[in-house]
Amino acid sequence: MNNLYESTRNADIKITPSKAILKGLSDDGGLFVLKDLASRNVDIKAMVGKDYYEIAKMVFKVLLPDFSEEEIDACVNNAYRGKFSNQEVTPLVKTSDGYVMELFNGPTSAFKDVGLQMLPQLTKTALVKNNEKEDILILTATSGDTGKAALAGFQDVEHTKVIVFYPYQGVSKVQEMQMRTQAGKNVKVVAIRGNFDDAQSGVKNIFTDKDFNQQLAADNIRLSSANSINIGRLIPQCVYYFYAYGKLVADNAIKFGDKVNFVVPTGNFGDILAGYYAKLLGLPINKLVCASNDNNVLYDFYNTGCYDRNRSFMKTISPSMDILISSNLERLLYYMSDCDNTYINELMQDLARDGQYQVNEKILKRLHDEFAAGYATNEDTAATIRKVYEKDGYLIDPHTAVAYKVLLDAPDQEHVSVVLSTASPYKFTNSVYEAMHEATKQDEFILMKKLNGETGVNIPENLKDLDSKPILHSDVIDVAEMKAYVAEKAKTI
Ligand SMILES: *Cc1c(COP(=O)(O)O)cnc(C)c1O
Repeated sequence: MNNLYESTRNADIKITPSKAILKGLSDDGGLFVLKDLASRNVDIKAMVGKDYYEIAKMVFKVLLPDFSEEEIDACVNNAYRGKFSNQEVTPLVKTSDGYVMELFNGPTSAFKDVGLQMLPQLTKTALVKNNEKEDILILTATSGDTGKAALAGFQDVEHTKVIVFYPYQGVSKVQEMQMRTQAGKNVKVVAIRGNFDDAQSGVKNIFTDKDFNQQLAADNIRLSSANSINIGRLIPQCVYYFYAYGKLVADNAIKFGDKVNFVVPTGNFGDILAGYYAKLLGLPINKLVCASNDNNVLYDFYNTGCYDRNRSFMKTISPSMDILISSNLERLLYYMSDCDNTYINELMQDLARDGQYQVNEKILKRLHDEFAAGYATNEDTAATIRKVYEKDGYLIDPHTAVAYKVLLDAPDQEHVSVVLSTASPYKFTNSVYEAMHEATKQDEFILMKKLNGETGVNIPENLKDLDSKPILHSDVIDVAEMKAYVAEKAKTI
């Protein structure tokens, strides 16, 4: 079995897992993938009744074959033990319609913590393993949650620096405050005048600029990514699919071997792709349900096989999913095309040139066999927050509500469905409050207390005193200035 990762766009580019983590993105713009995923089965039966940490170790050993058992154990323990407010890490909650898996009990109250508590551990280990003497500079484009989770994960980690780009006025007040108050001597946060796609494209351009990378190398700096294009961020997200399954079996909600559905609020396609990886590794999944907001480019792709980003970008109440270029879809297409790098390269050239591509019938059929898709408007989303609270006394955030609405639209009586809950409702207090009441101009932090008073749902510790923390970052730049900004800050942070 080949233990090297390769570029989705070129099978000649091969790299060890630890080096793929340090690099983030392949030089040709492709994403690193492990080819024979489907022949690496995980012992799922042995996971039943195990805790999160044990299951994480089992999954990492399969997907990061150049890490030793001791290294993986240390990474998992450092990343997760004592860092999540719930002992189970990603607990399941039963509702009238199925289960909700809470992925937001980490230090920044979004599911990104699952990946971004682990990535710094893997990066540190990979640096030592490869005897690297360079500093790693992490560049991160964020639709709101990745930025804070990356900052929290990498804060003051030796030999690493982080620059986060977020869309100016494109994130929630709480998200913005979380980032702008971030302490740490190795971090920098900047708003760009553009949306998430602009930020992500800007970062990708910097990654693939050879001259610029050489300049940085002269200063002993090497770029990497904390977005889900990095396998060190993506792989940790596979774990909770296995955990949920083991837990459902242990609780007798299903029999071992029964298939379940996972309904995933989707933006960059990282979270749901991790579910597909779990499926390729043998997890009995019926459908992975891709839930979009008004930026429903994936929903249209599912129905037509044409991915077309030529449409207007909508600002919604689920801003972390306001994305028109879902990077990780490239990895899905790679597997669904039977690892045809040349074909993927062509599709991605079409996307770069025309803003669209059309996949062949074989891929479209596979997509329909393995996935389902739906979307929710802002009104649907708000109504679902209200409905679930009225029915079950359970408060969900707008991203989770998008997925929940898609489940309600197409309930499956034959299979248990698990909705992935990606953020604490308090990260989007304003939208949640307005969904339960009427539009308001009140301060988001006052609303937090009101919502807590009404519902009794605890406010996460990290959000409680956010409004009294000092603001440490105020830069706002144009997209065209991103490269110059990185050049300057790379030396000063
Ligand atoms: C990032 C994010 C998503 C989307 O996840 P992808 O991996 O980008 O598809 C959904 N909900 C929340 C709260 C997020 O932060």
